[in-house]
Amino acid sequence: MADGRRDPHPVTDGDRLDPHPVTGTPLPSPAPAGGGWPDDPAAPDTPVARTPAQVRRLAASAADVPALQARISVCRACPRLVTWREDVARTGRRAAFAEQPYWGRPGPSFGDPDAEVLLVGLAPAANGTNRTGRMFTGDASGDFLYAALHRTGFAALPTSVGAGDGQRLTGLRIVAAVRCAPPRNAPTPDERAACSPWLERDLVLAAPRLRAVLCLGSIGWNAAIDAARALGWEVPRPKPRFGHAAEVPLGLPDGRVVWLVGSYHVSPHNTYTKRLTPDMLDAVLRGLRTG
Ligand code: SF4
Repeated sequence: MADGRRDPHPVTDGDRLDPHPVTGTPLPSPAPAGGGWPDDPAAPDTPVARTPAQVRRLAASAADVPALQARISVCRACPRLVTWREDVARTGRRAAFAEQPYWGRPGPSFGDPDAEVLLVGLAPAANGTNRTGRMFTGDASGDFLYAALHRTGFAALPTSVGAGDGQRLTGLRIVAAVRCAPPRNAPTPDERAACSPWLERDLVLAAPRLRAVLCLGSIGWNAAIDAARALGWEVPRPKPRFGHAAEVPLGLPDGRVVWLVGSYHVSPHNTYTKRLTPDMLDAVLRGLRTG
């Protein structure tokens, strides 16, 4: 089906409905667009990208953050990732969440639509965002991140469970280099390229108020640099190297400067080994608040 036309709902697991962990609403998995999932940004007639070219066209024409997030959340341009995210939602759930509905769609951004800071992650986790429908929500990485966002004044609550939990971000919005959960957390170069127009559009829509882009890990860092260059923003040469607390000025076409800031990723591999500690992340986040 061509983009711009009504999307048939993804095939759900028969008539099976599971109660949403926060609202208790019985829901199918994966979540049909506009099918009752709380805070679903999409409607049944949200246009669907089925090819990288359609991603580029639908991203470029998204007029605002809500329209962009709706289009992202129904994207089907990467066959391998669509199959993976929906298979996990139907039959590949982690045992602890077997009785919960799974979102099973790309992760829309989460946070303040008028944010001065964009936080760029890598990609959703199969049993995290792919389950809850919210960025960095439902896994150990998210637990570490939201606690830090709360300590530094960006998040209303120290935890993030899912739609309906009262969590709210101020001044910051979370996006990602790739919006679908990839097998082994490893998107292919083609999948990263296919998803890049969504990130570019997030940068364009945020640009009027944007002060900083915080990248968690080198993949988010590289994706943000590639997106900035594709938009004609001035990026220092040679290409700036990722590092924790690295700061690089990006020149916008209107002459303003947006700061590219690095942080080690909040993955358990980094936090359990103390490569990234709460104090280290708090220091970076506080710098964004005052910078
Ligand atoms: S990874 Fe990005 S481009 Fe690919 S299907 Fe998901 S949202 Fe679409």
